[in-house]
Parts: sequence; C-alpha cells; structure tokens
Amino acid sequence: MRFETEWLCYEPCPGDPFSPSATPIYQTATFRVDGGGPYDYTRSGNPTRRVLEEQLARVERGSRAAAFASGMAAVAAVASLVEAGGTILACSDLYGGTYRYFTRVLPKQGVRVIFAEDLFEALEEKPQLVFIETPTNPFQKITDLYRLADAAHASGSLLAVDNSLASPYLQNPIDCGADLAVHSATKYLSGHGDVTGGAVVARDPELGERIAFYQNACGSGLAPFESFLLARGMKTLPLRLERQQATAEILAPVLRSHPRVKRVHYPGLPEHPGRDAHFRQARGAGAVIAFETGSVAVSARIVESLELFSQTVSFGSVSSTVSLPARMSHASIAPDERRRRGFPEDLVRISVGIEHPDDLREDLVSALETTPGSARERGPRKTDPSSP
Ligand SMILES: *Cc1c(COP(=O)(O)O)cnc(C)c1O
Repeated sequence: MRFETEWLCYEPCPGDPFSPSATPIYQTATFRVDGGGPYDYTRSGNPTRRVLEEQLARVERGSRAAAFASGMAAVAAVASLVEAGGTILACSDLYGGTYRYFTRVLPKQGVRVIFAEDLFEALEEKPQLVFIETPTNPFQKITDLYRLADAAHASGSLLAVDNSLASPYLQNPIDCGADLAVHSATKYLSGHGDVTGGAVVARDPELGERIAFYQNACGSGLAPFESFLLARGMKTLPLRLERQQATAEILAPVLRSHPRVKRVHYPGLPEHPGRDAHFRQARGAGAVIAFETGSVAVSARIVESLELFSQTVSFGSVSSTVSLPARMSHASIAPDERRRRGFPEDLVRISVGIEHPDDLREDLVSALETTPGSARERGPRKTDPSSP
C-alpha cells in the first residue's frame, strides 16, 4: 500500500455498535463506570480523541500519540520529560512561542535551555533532551536527522523534532531515529485554519506512556469536538499538501528571479543550504517560502498589496497566507535578541494554499511590482497584530 492509501485505512470508531463510517463526536465528560468500557472521564481518555491519536501514531510512525489542546501544550508535554536541574539543547532558530516557553517558563521550573548554532558541539553539555525543528520556521534551516539522532543517543539524550512545517506526509522524524515527533496540529495537520491543537508521537511505548500520563495529569488533552475536526482535516492532508507544494515549487523560482527579492529560503531551490540532507530525510520541500527584500518598507508594502494571501499568523491552511515574522509569529523574541541572532526584519513568509497556481503567481508578481503611491496600493491594514 502507498502512504496515501494507508493514510485513509483506519477504523473510524472501533467498538461502536452502530459501525459509523465517520468518527462520531463523543461529547461527554464522563462514562458510566458500570458500563464495562475502557473510558471513565474525558480528560483521561475519550473515543473521538483515541481514534485521532491512533491515526497520528500511524502516520508519524510511532507506537503511541497524544493529542493536545495546542502545539504549545504538546511542546510543554515534551519538555516535562526533563526534570529540574536538567538541560534541554535547542536549535537557535525556533518558533517564537517555543522560544518564549523555553526562556520564560522552563527556567522557573529549574530546567536550563541552551540554544546552539552547532548542536553537535553543544551535546558536550549532556542535555537530557535535544529539541529541534527541521526545516526551521521561518528560515528553513536543515539539520541532518540521522546524524543528530545518532549523536544525541551516543550522549544519552532524547531527540524531539517539531515536525509542524513538513508534516508527517513529507517527513517522519521517528523513521530517521528521533524519539519524539511534535506538532502544532493547528498548521498542516488540521489544514483549514479552524482548529487549535497539538500532538506528540513517541517512538517507544514507555515514552508514549509518560507523555499520556502528563496529558491526563495536566488536563491538556484535545477536546472531543476539536479531535473530530482534526481527524477530519487530516484525511485530506496528502491531497492538500501535494497541491500546495506543487504551487510553491512554481512560486519559489519566480521570487528568486525577481529583482525586488534579495534572497529566498526554500529547500526546493537547488542552492538551498542543507538541501541534500533534507531530501535524504523528507519526501518534498513543502509549501512555506520565506524571502528577504533588503527593506522593511518594501516588505511591508508587498504584504499589504497581496490580495489572495491574507495577512495571517500561522501557516498550513488551504488558503494562502502571508506574514512578517518579526512583527507576528516571532514578535515574542525581543528585538535585541532578534538582532543578535541576525533575524532579518524584512523577512516575508508565505504559506501557499490550494488556490489556482496562476492566480497566486499573478498576485505575487503584481504585489512585488507595486510601487509606493501606485493605484494598486491599498489603504492601511493591520500590520502589527499582537504576538500569538
Ligand atoms: C505554531 C507552531 C507551534 C505552536 O503551536 P500552537 O498550535 O500555536 O500552540 C509550535 N511549533 C511550530 C513550528 C509552530 O509553527
């Protein structure tokens, strides 16, 4: 069976006496304990969430998955594996909310986090957990997962990979040696911009059990209705992402050859650093593209002028979106810190949707060619929404 077929082959509701063909929403907080079923309380377990979790474990090649109320709740569950006094080693280019959690919440719990450009060298610090993204958001930096998994295990560390940007359809970190795959299910997994959710998938059952324990103990599991929406959205992920990626592969070269664009970050381009490592561990380049123009004003104008790409934080929806990460998804990193890390303020990130590729290309080219004061330029729009 091909992956796309396997993706859809699962029982929508094992044990349900009515044999439903779609997963029902078990909108109940409690289950009668004299009924003899496996559930007693939805915080601890719910049939709708269970179907979703089994599907997540299957597509992400793990033994067990836990669905959470958000991607950040999933990140927190993974971080909970590290005890007070322990160390987490993280890559330096990290989603802003994860960076905020690692720098402002974990230190209060006695967990030290080191951010490193060179993860292999930093393993000398003997972290309990290595937490990375590959490709990273928004620069699409690539880490060789096979090499890092070996090195992390050799120094006694667990490896967790935030796989939100690639999605399980394009990359399975566990197959490359990682112990845990983490997701903001708000992005590609749900795919319609209508669910906030997260997931952790564990390679081995013991680790999966510890994550499930935390999910119940903290009460951060995904609610039944959201679990239903997420499972429903996930069914079309292969189809959505094939279309989104094919369009991204058209748009990236258009951006690269445009005089207004200084630099494009997309692993699908032949010159992208780490491209070879990426294609050893992933099945495609994905559908998020970042680019620099050399001027914050030019970038802001491009973002304002786009009509089909709505200005939205987040990525992975069927509708195309655009953002200025320095002002939006990464605003939770202080400006000084962004400067120190060389985070370009003019960086534009687009997430390609499923609209017709020609319409997206025309919209992009037309926005790139908008000059100040031209008729196409629109009135003021919100450019500085508060950090998510
Ligand atoms: C959005 C995002 C998160 C956080 O997920 P939420 O669902 O917003 O809590 C974590 N990691 C990455 C890479 C993300 O893009």
